[in-house]
Amino acid sequence: MLAMNYRGPGRVRAEEKPMPEILHPEDCIVKVLRSCICGSDLHLYNGNVPDTRVGTTFGHEFVGEVVELGSEVHKLKLGDKVLVPFNIACGKCSFCRQGLYGNCHESNPEATAVGGIFGYSHTAGGYDGGQAEYVRVPYANFGPTIIPEGMDLDDAVLLTDVVPTGYQAAEMGGIQPGDTVVIFGAGPIGIMAAKCSWLFGAGRVIVIDQNEFRLEFVKNYAKCESYNFKSIEDPVQFIKQTTDWLGADVCIDAVGAEAAGSAMQTITGRKTLLQAGSATALFWAINSVKKGGIVSIVGVYGPTGNLVPIGNVLNKGITIRANQASVKRLLPKLIDHVQKGTIKPKELITHRMPLRNVSDAYRIFSDKLDNCIKPILIPPTAKE
Ligand SMILES: [Zn+2]
Ligand SMILES: [Zn+2]
Repeated sequence: MLAMNYRGPGRVRAEEKPMPEILHPEDCIVKVLRSCICGSDLHLYNGNVPDTRVGTTFGHEFVGEVVELGSEVHKLKLGDKVLVPFNIACGKCSFCRQGLYGNCHESNPEATAVGGIFGYSHTAGGYDGGQAEYVRVPYANFGPTIIPEGMDLDDAVLLTDVVPTGYQAAEMGGIQPGDTVVIFGAGPIGIMAAKCSWLFGAGRVIVIDQNEFRLEFVKNYAKCESYNFKSIEDPVQFIKQTTDWLGADVCIDAVGAEAAGSAMQTITGRKTLLQAGSATALFWAINSVKKGGIVSIVGVYGPTGNLVPIGNVLNKGITIRANQASVKRLLPKLIDHVQKGTIKPKELITHRMPLRNVSDAYRIFSDKLDNCIKPILIPPTAKE
């Protein structure tokens, strides 16, 4: 089958790989109909995630058709169209029983932090992902969710990560009616966090980024304010000034390890890898939230440490909340929002490319060329 194949930092190719096989009676095989490239795939692509092995197939955002079933899968049948949460969860361990499906202990037993994630290095279990014609899906009685009749596959594929992660970013912010919410990052997750902040009763939503096209997009899509940090001298000062010098009620870091905007962070976090990526957005979030405020982190960082102003966290009495989105927990509510039209995910898709052009797709997305917000890949076996 054709699949994206990682060859080392900055190099991915579409190549023939062996078909995935059922390895456990609760596995199924899904024929991929759509898969996305995610901003967090760029951390892998750029070589910033440890134990990303040559030969791995990335892709944790995909939908498809069930084409093979393990002997103990009874919740699915052949031909079902499913959306598959990016986190691989057993549904039964003590963490899954608390609804912490991003922290499943069974799907990634070697790790003490994250659970299994499709196509996200051996630190997340070493599972191959869905930027391929076919993919093995473990725990098929739990994770894969049947796509409701009539739902567009482009909407469905964004329910595997972008919508739930953006929603959970706002949820973890504990937004109270009238709150001012500041979101760092106008990528797909930041855009969705801005949209969802209103659902929790925000009074004012501000997005900070450096990409003019994305700032314009989020302003229209999420009906919020958006500012370019390159044209405001100091984002922290700017946010304080616009909030009566108190700071924002809630700050959301929707950037993670690839953040720009601070030479010191870029050199130590991206050029020399002395820390697990550049923590500029998190730094700004901590320093611009009000005393007693909440910082919600959904931007992805590597497993080692980062330079953040922890003294300010203590002295301001900040609450920090963070996690990978618990997709399966949020799906019923979010499917409802998409069906009612309160959230229109597919408007974020700017590029559709054949899987065989995966290398161009990564380059365009990584270099933010051609006003790209969200690219999706169509495998040759999936007819549009
Ligand atoms: Zn993703
Ligand atoms: Zn579990």
